[in-house]
Amino acid sequence: MPELPEVQATVDYLRERVEGATITRAHVSWARTVLPNDPSTFLRDITGAKIHSLFRRGKYVGMKLDSRMPLYLFTHLRMSGSLDVIPTEFELDRHDRVCLELDSGKSIRFNDTRKFGRMTLCEDPDDVVGHLGLEPLDPSCTPEALHSALSHKSGRIKPVLLDQTVIAGLGNIYVDEVLWKIKVHPLTRASSLTQEHMTKLHKAIRETLIEAIEKLGCDFGDGVVDGGMYKPRVYGREKKKCSRCRDTIVRIVVGQRGTHICPTCQIKPRGRRAPLRHKR
Ligand SMILES: [Zn+2]
Repeated sequence: MPELPEVQATVDYLRERVEGATITRAHVSWARTVLPNDPSTFLRDITGAKIHSLFRRGKYVGMKLDSRMPLYLFTHLRMSGSLDVIPTEFELDRHDRVCLELDSGKSIRFNDTRKFGRMTLCEDPDDVVGHLGLEPLDPSCTPEALHSALSHKSGRIKPVLLDQTVIAGLGNIYVDEVLWKIKVHPLTRASSLTQEHMTKLHKAIRETLIEAIEKLGCDFGDGVVDGGMYKPRVYGREKKKCSRCRDTIVRIVVGQRGTHICPTCQIKPRGRRAPLRHKR
């Protein structure tokens, strides 16, 4: 499932290919993809719009459009969505849910096998992304801002970091990576982290995301990001050695999410017994 670096790779890919082009025709072959828009309204409003610029917010691909009114198109790739730019004459794939034909002779195809992805057209960006929390690479996301966003949260640090209304863009992979980097167990209470932890966490989030963006994200083999070169240190490395201490990485479940930790580097918090279980 794409997270911030993979979404950024998609934005950068699109920016080079479609910025400045005009959408001359559109098709929606799966109505739910454009929810809550109605497909006919979606097609009417998007046809003739010029793609002004591409941007990212959290895990959303944002597109600012010049039209009769200011419009934004937000795409959330969810589990299996991908955005490609290919010549318009190429046949539609059966998993292409939305096709935007451009005056350049190319088309943007939103391909989504599992159909969880969404493409939403709106006049006010807040309608789609207004609920999102801190943008981790934005200058406004300082260690102090992170501290104030996390310190009053009663939950465990991993689910809190996955909560998009707290900090946007992190998912299962990069949260595991970041917590391993700062040697914090995912079941640690967010509110128990000190300012020193926050400074380390802030630095680790930035470093991890910047490294992953430079490597075009992580290739999950699902066609979302082809050729992503980021190699996780703990995520998906169950039974392999921790590169820092050589202990064996284990998979546990935290908040119903498969989670990878080094049991030596990331000591389980003391206190009442934590709901930790190993995968059978
Ligand atoms: Zn270790």
